[in-house]
Amino acid sequence: MARSAAAPSARGSATRPDGGRIIILLGPPGAGKGTQGERLAADLGIPKLATGDVLRAARRAGTPLGLEATSYLDRGELVPDSVILGIMKEALGEPAAARGVILDGAVRTVPQAEGLQSALAGLGRAVSAVLVFDVPDEELVRRISSRTICDACQTPYTGLPPGAPCPKCGGTLVRRKDDEPDAVRTRLAVYTRQTEPVIAWYQTHAVPVIHIDALGSVDDVAARVRRGLRAVE
Ligand code: AMP
Repeated sequence: MARSAAAPSARGSATRPDGGRIIILLGPPGAGKGTQGERLAADLGIPKLATGDVLRAARRAGTPLGLEATSYLDRGELVPDSVILGIMKEALGEPAAARGVILDGAVRTVPQAEGLQSALAGLGRAVSAVLVFDVPDEELVRRISSRTICDACQTPYTGLPPGAPCPKCGGTLVRRKDDEPDAVRTRLAVYTRQTEPVIAWYQTHAVPVIHIDALGSVDDVAARVRRGLRAVE
């Protein structure tokens, strides 16, 4: 199933009176959420919360959260909503998040969207915009099969082999276990079944949803992200 690009599908305010933008990044595995999220966080000067990174770090540290998450991570299945909502609430309570936050892969089910909405309402805040990164499945599979990640700083790379040194920090590049073909199939199916309905949920809750054509260079996609966000300001 191809996921095609589209223009912004709603208009509204991406900036809230409290000043803190909360921007959700949605998209299947390999769509470039992590890379674009880093860029956007640096551009806007606000932190990024990538729940996948938090879970992998917890697994590396051997914490109870990491132990609970391991089997879900390896199979490419979603960890329970209550675990994710706990991570999100903690991150939203950090002082840095008062300026805003980019949520990368942090909302993947309708119950998570609902839980986030009520947590934010309690803080007098709301989601500013949802960016959906659209990439055809063939391209996702191509990207993921040539993807490695630094075991130290977690930076993802396309086309650098496992075992190579990380250009950013000198750590070692490894393949993610959930980037193996079986887990990738599961993750794509999970996205279609559990995460795509989140897009319609936000549309019906009057949150601007911006579809981004995520094919092309990192710079081109970043420019589309900026244009998309400007369109809803
Ligand atoms: P990612 O790094 O975003 O590709 O996430 C890797 C894995 O972490 C996913 O396949 C899930 O097992 C888990 N995960 C990350 N974010 C969530 C979330 N919001 N809900 C449930 N599971 C998640």
